[in-house]
Amino acid sequence: MRTILPPHRSSRLSKKKKPMEIFENVHLIKNHFVNLFLIVDAGYLTLIDTGISRNEKRILNYIKNLGFKPKAVNRIIITHADGDHYGSLARLQKVISAETLANQVEAEAIRTGSSSRKLNPVGIEKLLYNMVSPLVKSQPARVDQYLLHGQVFPILGGLQVINTPGHTPGHISLYSPSTRILFAGDSINVAGRKLVPSSGANTWDLHQAEQSFQIQVKLDPVIVCAGHGFWKK
Ligand SMILES: [Zn+2]
Repeated sequence: MRTILPPHRSSRLSKKKKPMEIFENVHLIKNHFVNLFLIVDAGYLTLIDTGISRNEKRILNYIKNLGFKPKAVNRIIITHADGDHYGSLARLQKVISAETLANQVEAEAIRTGSSSRKLNPVGIEKLLYNMVSPLVKSQPARVDQYLLHGQVFPILGGLQVINTPGHTPGHISLYSPSTRILFAGDSINVAGRKLVPSSGANTWDLHQAEQSFQIQVKLDPVIVCAGHGFWKK
């Protein structure tokens, strides 16, 4: 397998937008209210989630500023089929030929540009949902492989797929036991210094969300990379 080495990393970094390396070879790319994560390993890049639609330029610029070409991205993992997590996937796929992976239930929603569960917001949540929904509209996108619980990617010392249903039926998280970094998508929210499970009208099943949360807390992560928060022990 050909390795694509980053040419002159430090000299090509933009002064305006400094890379946000939260751990060695793990980057946080902020997209308004959503976090995406980029893992660098042996010259290749794994992108976790893509943010809202029309975020592809921000991602591609970040990759360029790190000294990589778009083709260095060989894997895109989507934690779940909410528009603020796969909104830019279809446009990214026009530039990046990376293999795209998601849980089967989420993949079916991604392929039709929809969500894997129906939202029933009431009261203030309905107002918020109506405000946010135009931002999180997504185009249908390709998914090449289904993620399986227990599957391990050979990055970050072994990055494991964990089924974490609750927020959505096919939500997955990723955990690296050797670094104790957890990529939790929306299965965990960060409330100040506290970690809490997904809750509210956008949660498909509150009971399963709590169970998934407990499983992840027991892993005793030192860093939690959540879709809308970042937590360090
Ligand atoms: Zn979500």
